[in-house]
Order: sequence, then structure tokens, then C-alpha cells
Amino acid sequence: MAAALIDGKAYAAALRERIAAAVPAFAAAAGRPPGLAVVLVGEDPASQVYVRAKGKAVLAAGMASFEHKLPDTTTQAELIALVARLNADEAVDGILVQLPLPAAIDAQSVIAAIDPARDVDGFTPVNAGRLAVGAPGLVPCTPLGCLMLLKDRLGDLSGLDAVVIGRSNIVGKPMAQLLLKENCTVTIAHSRTRDLAALVRRADIVVAAIGRAEMIKGDWLKPGATVIDVGINRQPDGKLVGDVEFSVARTRAAVITPVPGGVGPLTIAMLLQNTLLAARQKLAS
Ligand code: NAD
Repeated sequence: MAAALIDGKAYAAALRERIAAAVPAFAAAAGRPPGLAVVLVGEDPASQVYVRAKGKAVLAAGMASFEHKLPDTTTQAELIALVARLNADEAVDGILVQLPLPAAIDAQSVIAAIDPARDVDGFTPVNAGRLAVGAPGLVPCTPLGCLMLLKDRLGDLSGLDAVVIGRSNIVGKPMAQLLLKENCTVTIAHSRTRDLAALVRRADIVVAAIGRAEMIKGDWLKPGATVIDVGINRQPDGKLVGDVEFSVARTRAAVITPVPGGVGPLTIAMLLQNTLLAARQKLAS
């Protein structure tokens, strides 16, 4: 039987509607809408597309968008100085520095300069640490979206075997932490993992965040598994595909996210959710 497809666009639309409906009450209490500052350094075309999409979504939710576009000659000190100004700006509830940054800039130093209370990407060491110890904080948007899908589809995740493929700070590691918090038995696989197929074969939940077109073969999957495909890979013909061999995977999995239209749309919706959360916490403090 073919797997059920998760319609990420529909989930994202419903979430964005709920957030937009909550914005007027915040604005009435605060005397201003929630505000997100997005910083883009350089001319990376994919980053430009993402930043434009984020700005549009922020405005559509009734929030304020502050875009800072800097040339790729910007120094690390200049970028950190901008982050410091944004940290002190009362109208700014969330700060997002679009990655990747030019090679001359150390991304970790820039991220660490962001006020953890405004870190809507959840990438600062403070928020990563909070997630690791199970304390409340801002959680990275993409894994947060994946978890929402999993909980909505599967309910209680307790005791399930989950394999997260990829160990980046942006997706893989926080995803594994979130699944651990839900009492899954979590395995993290990566580029040095010896027998990936064997790990995938026993998993009830597979989250693929690698960035390699259809690397996870469909016939590796345990029949009835739930597959969350985070990967976005552009083929030579321009088509986007995920990290999972979709045509075969959908004949074995019970539930699968397509690429595009699965996890992708949820990332921006979660960014709006984190911005509203950061704004509410700032107002309450
Ligand atoms: P990354 O390059 O930082 O990390 C990739 C991970 O894959 C690494 O940890 C590496 O160990 C692992 N890996 C590489 N080769 C492997 C192999 N042969 N076997 C097992 N593991 C291997 O990437 P990232 O930022 O985590 O992103 C991963 C993918 O997810 C990319 O395609 C990216 O475009 C996509 N992504 C999508 C969204 C979204 O909103 N849908 C958000 C972020 C990233």
C-alpha cells in the first residue's frame, strides 16, 4: 500500500493562520507588532530566496520585518556590531543571521553574539545547551517542524526507534535531542557511520538530513516506518528531490514527507512561531 503523504504546506498554512490571529493581541498589549530582523551578508542566490520568503511571511503574519543586507566584504567585527545594535533594539524580538556566511567570517562567533532571548533560530550555544538539558528555550525551526509532524501523525512517540541521519547543529543534533525528550530510542548516523542500511532497517522513525539526493534507499526502510525527509537537492534537470529514494520509499513507509512540499514550508511557519514566543517572553519579562 502506498504511504500517506504529509502535506507540509497545509500544516504550515494552518500554523501561520493561528499565529497571524494571535498577533493583534500582542500588538495591543505591547503597543507594537512582534518584530523580526533578518541579516543577509553577500549575494548567495539561495539565501536571497530564503530571506525574501521569510520577509514576506513575517509581513503576512502582521509582524514587522527589518531586513539588513550587507555586502560580502563585510567584516566579522562589523557584523557583530550590527548584531549588538539589534540586541539593544526594543522593536526587535527575533534576530536571524542567514547562513552560510562568507568564508572570512566565523559563523559560530556571530551566532554566539545574538541575544539568546532573540535567537529565533535557536542556534546560540545557550539555546543549544538548554535543549540538551531539557530546559525551556528557543528551538531550531526545522527540527521543531519535523517534531510537530511526527507527533501529529504518531501521537505518543515513547519507546519508538528513531534514526536521525545527519549531525549538523541546525537539523540533526537538535532533532535527536527533541526525539530523546519524547522518549524515543535515538541513533544519530553521519558520514562515518558504517552500516547505515542496518540502522535504517530497524527504525520506526527515519529523519534524513544529509543533503545527498535519494541516498537513503527505499528498500532499506522497515515496512510501516514514518519518514521525514529534510534534504533539499536540486537535480541537473532543475527538479528538487529529497535524501530518500521517494518512489520506492512510498511503497514501504506508512507515512512520508514529499520534497518539495513536506518539511520545507514548516520551517518558516516555525520561525514565525518562535518570533511570537520570543516577543511574548520579552513583554512578560
Ligand atoms: P550539513 O551539510 O550541515 O550536514 C549534513 C550531515 O549529513 C552531516 O552531519 C554529515 O555527517 C551527514 N552525512 C554526509 N554524508 C553522509 C553519508 N554518506 N551518510 C550518512 N550521513 C552523511 O547539512 P544540514 O544543514 O544539516 O542540511 C541537511 C539537508 O537538509 C540539506 O539538503 C539542506 O538543504 C536541508 N535543509 C532543509 C531545511 C528545510 O527547511 N527543509 C532546513 C535546513 C536544511
